Amino acid sequence: MARVRSKRNDDDDDEFGGIFGGFGRPEDIDDEVPGPAPAPAFHVPPARPPAPSLATAAAPPAASLAAAAAAAAAAPLTIGAFDAAQLADQTRFPWAWAPHGKTRESYAPVITGKWWSRTDQELAGMSADKRRDWGHIGRIMETELGERMDGDERCAACRERDQECWVYSKKGAQQVSRPGSTCARCRVVSRAGGCSLSTRRPTRRRTPPAPGPQSLAAYKPSGGPPPGAGGSAIAA
Ligand SMILES: [Zn+2]
Ligand SMILES: [Zn+2]
Repeated sequence: MARVRSKRNDDDDDEFGGIFGGFGRPEDIDDEVPGPAPAPAFHVPPARPPAPSLATAAAPPAASLAAAAAAAAAAPLTIGAFDAAQLADQTRFPWAWAPHGKTRESYAPVITGKWWSRTDQELAGMSADKRRDWGHIGRIMETELGERMDGDERCAACRERDQECWVYSKKGAQQVSRPGSTCARCRVVSRAGGCSLSTRRPTRRRTPPAPGPQSLAAYKPSGGPPPGAGGSAIAA
């Protein structure tokens, strides 16, 4: 099935901006949104408590909340808990489907205790590109926009590690500016060979030409020695 590169599919090209550098790439060629792009406001999901402006007896200070969250994130797990953290088996958040256009808002993961979970502090410490990658990871793993690939549909890296492999669904990708086709796991760090589901670039190394058998036919001797060269035909 040939993949037709249309203007819409140009959005696939934003993968790994943080890893491979985004300098000079054609940014924000998006036909749906006229005019200047709005500044990417980092959307803070409602589940995260706002920092109290006044110290009140009812709410613990934000600092201790963050510290507790960081401690929870860093705490070692039993193997059972570790295995559970690898599965996106939680209830998925509904997506507010836009009838047209793609969102440019960032997304912050809300679910805690999963492999993609990060604290506010950790997210704040990321580069802008990495932060954007994590927004995609969060949306794929937590909202209706994500779709699980099963069995051999999974990317090669997830198959090899026997991990769940989640990507934007076809419909879901249409809701997001520059969604990319890389699976969520492969967006965390580039894994060997890149994500086999990515349509961005060839991931296979160029195989060197196979060393064929050196043919000796090219050096075919041209006949035998010239007749009479040895002068051995003289009979006594
Ligand atoms: Zn994968
Ligand atoms: Zn992958």
